[in-house]
Amino acid sequence: HLGLQVDYASELNANQLLAATTIEGKVLVIAGAGSGKTKTLTYRTSYLIENGVSPKEILLLTFTRKAANEIKGRARALLASTPSFAQRLNEDLVEDKLPKNKALNDITSGTFHSFCNMLLRQYSGLLGINPRFTILDTGDSEDAIDLIHKEKKYPTKITNQAFPRKKTLQNIFSTSRNRRIHIRDLIENSYPDIAVHIPVIEQLAIDFHEYKRANHLYDFDDIISQVVRHLKHNDTFRQLLQNQYRYIMVDEYQDTNIPQKELIDLICAPTSVSLMVVGDDNQSIYAFRGANYENILLFGEGYPEAKLIKLEQNYRSTPAVLDYINALSAQITLGYQKQLYSGVSIEGVKPIFRRLSDESREAKYIADRIIELKPDHDYQDFAVLCRTSFQSNYVQLEFMERNIPFIVVGGIRFIERRHIKDVLAFVKILYNPNDTIAWHRILTLFKGVGSVTATRLTQAINADDNSFEPLLTTKFAKKSTQLEPLYKMLSQASQAESVEAIIELILDFYMPVLKINEDNWRERSEDFRVLKNLALEHDSLDKFLENLALDPPNDSVATAGEPEKGEEGIDKNRNKVTISTIHSAKGLEWPVVFVNSLVDGMTPHYRSLSDFEELEEERKLFYVACSRAKSRLFLTAPDYFSSYSGYFDKVSRFIAEVPADKITVLTVKQPLEESDDPVWW
Ligand code: ATP
Ligand code: MG
Repeated sequence: HLGLQVDYASELNANQLLAATTIEGKVLVIAGAGSGKTKTLTYRTSYLIENGVSPKEILLLTFTRKAANEIKGRARALLASTPSFAQRLNEDLVEDKLPKNKALNDITSGTFHSFCNMLLRQYSGLLGINPRFTILDTGDSEDAIDLIHKEKKYPTKITNQAFPRKKTLQNIFSTSRNRRIHIRDLIENSYPDIAVHIPVIEQLAIDFHEYKRANHLYDFDDIISQVVRHLKHNDTFRQLLQNQYRYIMVDEYQDTNIPQKELIDLICAPTSVSLMVVGDDNQSIYAFRGANYENILLFGEGYPEAKLIKLEQNYRSTPAVLDYINALSAQITLGYQKQLYSGVSIEGVKPIFRRLSDESREAKYIADRIIELKPDHDYQDFAVLCRTSFQSNYVQLEFMERNIPFIVVGGIRFIERRHIKDVLAFVKILYNPNDTIAWHRILTLFKGVGSVTATRLTQAINADDNSFEPLLTTKFAKKSTQLEPLYKMLSQASQAESVEAIIELILDFYMPVLKINEDNWRERSEDFRVLKNLALEHDSLDKFLENLALDPPNDSVATAGEPEKGEEGIDKNRNKVTISTIHSAKGLEWPVVFVNSLVDGMTPHYRSLSDFEELEEERKLFYVACSRAKSRLFLTAPDYFSSYSGYFDKVSRFIAEVPADKITVLTVKQPLEESDDPVWW
C-alpha cells in the first residue's frame, strides 16, 4: 500500500471522489455530459494502482483506443507528479523506463472489439480456433454476402419484388444478432417490403455464417459474439478471465449492445470482480448498431447490490451554454432526468441561432465566426459537428477557399477508401490465404478477370493447399498478363522480413494498377504514406492488420492550409479546425462548437419523424452535439439545400421546443448576406 499520494479530494468533487475511491463491488456512475465521468475513471485508475492493484488486473473498455490511451496517459502523469510516487518509480525503474508492477501499459484497454480480438488470438489454443483469422469490415461483409448470393444463384426478384441490396442485408444480419431478434421478425417489423424474400434471406444468413467459418473470417459481430459463446461454454476460459481481470471499467456504457453487456456480465459474475460502468443514457446514439440504452437503466436489476453514484456538476460548459443544454436534456423523455449545475464561474455567452438562405451562406457564416474569434483562439479550439459527413461539403469548400486549416473526422474512413482496401487485400491473403474476399478483390482488379474467374481461381488456390501456383498453371492463367507478376510479388512478399518490406513490394506492384483504374491516383497515393508509417510501427502482419481493422486512423486526410511538417497522416488534429460527424465527437469537447443543418427533415431526419424512438435518438444526437461546447455554441440552419434541390421551411423542432430565453436568435442582417430574407421562423 502506497498511501494517498495524489490529492484526490482537491481535484474531484464529493461524488467524483466517492466513485474514484470505491474500488470493490459493482458501481454505476450515471451522469450528464461534461460532469467528469471520464475524468473520474482516470483518477480511479491511478487510485487503484496507488492502492496496490496490479495494472495487469485492470481492464478498461472505452469507445476508441485513443480514449483509453488518454485515460492511461493522464493517470500515469498523475502518479508521476506526486513526489513520493515518482521516487518509487525511480527505485523500481527497469531498462525500458517503465516501473516494475506499475507500468500503465500493462493495463488491458481498448474497445470491445480490440479486447475480444486479442482474446481470440491469445487463447486460440484453449478455444480450439485458428488464430490466423482475418477480419471482415462492414464493406467486406457486404461483398461476401453479394458473392454468396451470386454463387448460390439465389433469385434476384420474386413476384417483381427486387431482392434487397447487400447493404440492407448486412444491416439485417447484424441487427438481428446484436438485438437478438429473429431475421423473420426483424424483416416483418422493419422491412415489410421485402417480406417475400424472407426464406432466401434466412438461408443466406446461414450460408454467410458457413462461408466465414470455412475461410477463417470474422466480421465485427463475430469477434464479440464468439468470445461470449466461449465464455458461456468454456469454464476454464471464463475462470481464467475472471481471475485475470479483477478491476473492470467501462466508459460510455450507454452505447453497449446485448452481446457486449453479456460479455461484461460473464466476466463480472463473481462478487469479487470489481466493475464500474459510467455513462449517460441521454447520450445513447448507437441504436443502429444495436446499442441498448436500457443496459444502463437496468444495471441495478443485474446487480442488485450495485452502488449508484450520480454526478451533478458540469465543468465543461459556461452557465449560459449549460442552461441551453439542460433545456435540451429536459426534452428527452426516456430515462433518468438530470439537471446539471455549473462548475464554471464565468457566465459566458448564450448559444446563437442563425438562419441562412442556403448551405454556402451557412458555410460562410461559420467561416466568418472562426475568423472573428481567431484572435482569442487557436484553430484547434473550433469544431463543426454535422449529422452526416456529406453535410460538411460546403464547409470544407469554404475553409479551403479561406485557407482555414481543418481535419475531417468520421465519414468515409481511411480504411474504407477503395485503394486502401485494395492494398490491404494483398496483406490479408499473405496472412490468411483462405481469405476469399481478399482474393476476389485482388483478382477482379485486373482487366480480363471477372467475378466468375476470380471465384474459380480462388477455389483452385485454396484446393492446392493455398500455394500461389494456380496463378500460373491453371487455365485461368491466360486471362490476364498480371497474374504472373502477381505470383512473383506474392512469393517474394511471403519471404519478406518486415511489414514495411511487404508493403513496399505490394505498392510497387499495385501502383501501375491504380494508375490504370483511378483518375485521381495521385491524390489517392498520398494515403500510402500513412500506410507505410503504420507498417513501420508494427513488427508483425497480424498486429498491423488488427490495428487497421479495429483502430484505424479515423481521418480521411482531407486537410487544407499549411501542410504540416514532421509526422504525416494519423494524428493531424493539431491546430486545425475539426469537422466531424456527431457520432465521432462523442466524449470530446471544444471551446467553440458549430452545429449545422438544423432544419426539420434534416435534423431530425425526415425518416425518423414517424417513429417515436428514432426521433428520440435524433434528439439525443443533437444533445450530444451541443454538449461538446465549452464557451461558444453556434447553431445554423439553411433554408435551401442544393444537394436536395429543396427548401426546408421549418426550423428544427429541437431548436423550436427549447424556451426562447435560452438562446439568442440573430435577426440582424450581416453585411455578407445582403440578399437574405428576414430570419426567424
Ligand atoms: P461526456 O459525457 O461528454 O463524456 P464526461 O462526463 O465524461 O463528459 P469529462 O470529459 O470527464 O466529462 O469532463 C468534462 C470536463 O470537465 C473536462 O474538461 C474535465 O477536465 C472537467 N472536469 C471534470 N471534473 C472536474 C472537476 N472536479 N474540477 C474541474 N474540472 C473538472
Ligand atoms: Mg466522457
